[in-house]
Amino acid sequence: MKLYNSATRKKEEFVPNHPDIVKMYTCGPTVYHFAHIGNLRSYIMEDVLEKYLRYIGYNVKRVMNITDVGHLTSDADEGEDKMLKGAKREHKSVMEIAKFYTDAFFSDCKKLNIKTPDVVEPATNCIDEYIKIITKLMDTGYAYFAGGNVYFDTSKLERYYIFNDFNADDLDVGVREGVEEDVNKRNKNDFVLWFTKSKFEDQALKWDSPWGVGYPGWHIECSGICIKHLGDDLDIHCGGIDNAFPHHTNEIAQSESYLGHKWCNYWMHVLHLNTSSGKMSKSKGEFLTVSLLEEKGYDPLAYRLFCLQSHYRKSLVFSWENLDNAQGTYNKLINRIAALKPAGEEIDTDAVAALKSKFTAALDNDLNTSLAVTALYDVLKYSTNDDTKLAVIADFDRVLSLSLIEKADARREELKKQAVSGTNEFTVISESGESNAEIEALLKARADAKKAKNFAEADRIREELKAQGIEVTDIPNGAKWKRI
Ligand code: AMP
Ligand code: ZN
Repeated sequence: MKLYNSATRKKEEFVPNHPDIVKMYTCGPTVYHFAHIGNLRSYIMEDVLEKYLRYIGYNVKRVMNITDVGHLTSDADEGEDKMLKGAKREHKSVMEIAKFYTDAFFSDCKKLNIKTPDVVEPATNCIDEYIKIITKLMDTGYAYFAGGNVYFDTSKLERYYIFNDFNADDLDVGVREGVEEDVNKRNKNDFVLWFTKSKFEDQALKWDSPWGVGYPGWHIECSGICIKHLGDDLDIHCGGIDNAFPHHTNEIAQSESYLGHKWCNYWMHVLHLNTSSGKMSKSKGEFLTVSLLEEKGYDPLAYRLFCLQSHYRKSLVFSWENLDNAQGTYNKLINRIAALKPAGEEIDTDAVAALKSKFTAALDNDLNTSLAVTALYDVLKYSTNDDTKLAVIADFDRVLSLSLIEKADARREELKKQAVSGTNEFTVISESGESNAEIEALLKARADAKKAKNFAEADRIREELKAQGIEVTDIPNGAKWKRI
């Protein structure tokens, strides 16, 4: 497999350090708010990478952190702690906020068929790990204590910038316009490893350390958690492109200075999902979430398909129109798979091999997911039996994770029911399984009224049902009801 490596700016053949395991690390969410669908674009594409590595036979160990302390409102060392900000906003404790948004994150991931990494570690669990690393960095002269904080001394490195040929002046993290320069820093790119109470009095979570009571910087978390669970070397480190600088740059600086050798071989960065007005952000307060997509009637997996249709190294513009198109494509795809009829025929192994080779060729080429989706259409068009097609689609879906087989099975069942009841164009489903001719007749009358654009009558019927304690949800070609 070829993978683009941001550290070398080249597509390279992927060769793991150890034959029996691929070590993979992902920067996890900062749990002070819901994840926006931009964050989730990164997690979807990283999920595809992990699943594809497993698909081609690797054993993968994937670790992810949960940032529940230390990430300040600026990615450098300025501003408030994001967690503290979230806690203040919601009049809750930092730990309550962390628990709530961690659960919300995994619930969103589940809806998007994103697998939970093998190890998920909250940053607040590993304080001893950070102290161990910082102590060695102090002992070896890579870190210094100033004004109550411990800083990493970037002047000790032969090479600090890794991912881009940055103009150092453009990236002055300490001296951006409007931000007071941190006079404790010896060099403008130095970053905090450990804050003490001297700087942030209102920090909620604090721990004892050799340098005073305080808390870790954001960057040290990822190095500490990664080294704790994956050891002294790492195959692939992932994150969104905004993480490349300063976060990943600082991770490399401290990890390699601590270990005394090269740390990570491949860096995968996912480009951003933007809106037409620019970058998506949690801190703006108004952002797109999976729940919002659901409220508007979209299947979260249509969003996953939307992401798969473009390459992870290109930025992607979100619009409702684009999502409508993805939802339409997804529905059509499911309908086409539902039209395949399993008949217990023998699997055509030549067809499987030919179809799989297109799929793997696409993903072997730096995870070209849009061509991998095209390979699905090749399966539908291929001249072979339906059992073979369904087997290949199920196989591809181990990586694409679009629930293609489950959704197509459900659609097939729905169509069968419609055929039996002769209500081809309208299905009524009761959530409890109860059948009630009167309610079904009212729902049918409501659908007819809507078809005739008599919306007043349709609303009247909905109200009539509501008065009877019946809640109605529209579904494609039908309605679902339940008693409330
Ligand atoms: P955070 O919760 O802010 O720490 O970010 C979680 C992940 O989402 C990180 O890997 C970020 O790089 C990534 N990310 C942030 N914004 C976007 C975006 N608009 N599109 C894609 N990924 C993003
Ligand atoms: Zn990280």
